[in-house]
Amino acid sequence: MNYTERTRAALESERALCEARLHTYTENGARLDLTRGKPAPEQLALSAGLLDVLDHRSVTDSESGMDCRNYGGPDGIPEARRLLAHMLGTHTADTIVGGNSSLELMFLLISHGMTDGICGSTPWSHVEKRKFLCPAPGYDRHFAITEHFGFGLIPIAMREDGPDMDAVEAYAADPTVKGIWCVPKYQNPTGVIFSDAVIRRFAALHPAAEDFRIFWDNAYCVHDFDADAPKIPNLLELCKEAGNPDLVYEFCSTSKISFPGAGISAVAASPANLIDIKGFLKFATIGPDKLNQLRHARFFKNSAGLAAQMQKHAALLRPKFEAVYRALHEELDGTGTADWTEPKGGYFVSFNTPAGCAKAVVAMCASLGVRFTPAGATYPYGVDPDDRNIRIAPSFATVDEVEAATHILALCTKLVSIDKLLSEGSK
Ligand code: PLP
Repeated sequence: MNYTERTRAALESERALCEARLHTYTENGARLDLTRGKPAPEQLALSAGLLDVLDHRSVTDSESGMDCRNYGGPDGIPEARRLLAHMLGTHTADTIVGGNSSLELMFLLISHGMTDGICGSTPWSHVEKRKFLCPAPGYDRHFAITEHFGFGLIPIAMREDGPDMDAVEAYAADPTVKGIWCVPKYQNPTGVIFSDAVIRRFAALHPAAEDFRIFWDNAYCVHDFDADAPKIPNLLELCKEAGNPDLVYEFCSTSKISFPGAGISAVAASPANLIDIKGFLKFATIGPDKLNQLRHARFFKNSAGLAAQMQKHAALLRPKFEAVYRALHEELDGTGTADWTEPKGGYFVSFNTPAGCAKAVVAMCASLGVRFTPAGATYPYGVDPDDRNIRIAPSFATVDEVEAATHILALCTKLVSIDKLLSEGSK
């Protein structure tokens, strides 16, 4: 029976039961960390061979003939551009490959908008009350970049098929709104895959600001657990068809394919945007780490090579996500105290407590040695107006640890919910 329908006495006895069950998980001192979406060591081991691709006897020329050990090649080497372009579902000519972090490319682009202006527009630093749209719950590091550069962060509700497009279209009519953060596949943290209809509305968007850009961070584009995973249309292509070619920057990286600390990243965009990007990147670097690009291209070879690697990742990740879903169902079904997503890919699960409880739940878990991303982190400025959302990142811990941590999370949620109901004077 739903907690809200139970009597005071029934809630009190449920409380005692939860405390006893919690004790079974924590009596030996739990030390569990489900804060950030890092690959586990076994996942990193899948790419160990990448380190053997090149040695002192290797030919270090790219297929273009460029010596990858030397300066130059600001767009990246052709074989790496092709690999990441195909991963994004776009063309080599549309794609530039950089260093290990796509987040850095996003930061550099926002920084470029601030100092130079996008494609010759007024620098954003001159735009008073500049704003950025932030689908929420969303990725804290996206929000942090635009907060750092003084944008007002506007939360946009995340629905089951993507951001609330009515709100996006309404806000885009304001010329001080300069862009939106999007993670179109296995969104961080909801795991939502944007629907075709939502993606088509993005392509057809007509923002008032000519320098409005969609930051389409396709970080989890090939991170499926199952072979029959949905494919999403390529926004760059749709924007071109809609006569809106410059509206989007697409990003991806191999951070969760090879090594987060030593992968390769890419940005794909229209010809005009690529000229603009290269125009500022040339001041930042005389060229990316092309040896690493060469290693990645030779190790993965093509999309089939990437797909084979992703199946191995899935075999390691799927049981951890299933452990989360199992524990949540076991503890919470029928209580009416929480809801959560069950993505079949990506790195995160989004968990909602009753309103006003998330901070207390995360604090209670921490006091028992189980760490989650701080409640609120998935919202602009770190403030979840309903204090409900908690991000679960199951990748790094072992299956047993994930299972224990999720039971502890669910039990703490029940305890905090019961205390709230009791304090509100449940009969
Ligand atoms: N984008 C999203 C949505 C992420 O979740 C993450 C990492 O968790 C990143 C980007 C980081 O990407 P990179 O390692 O390429 O900088």
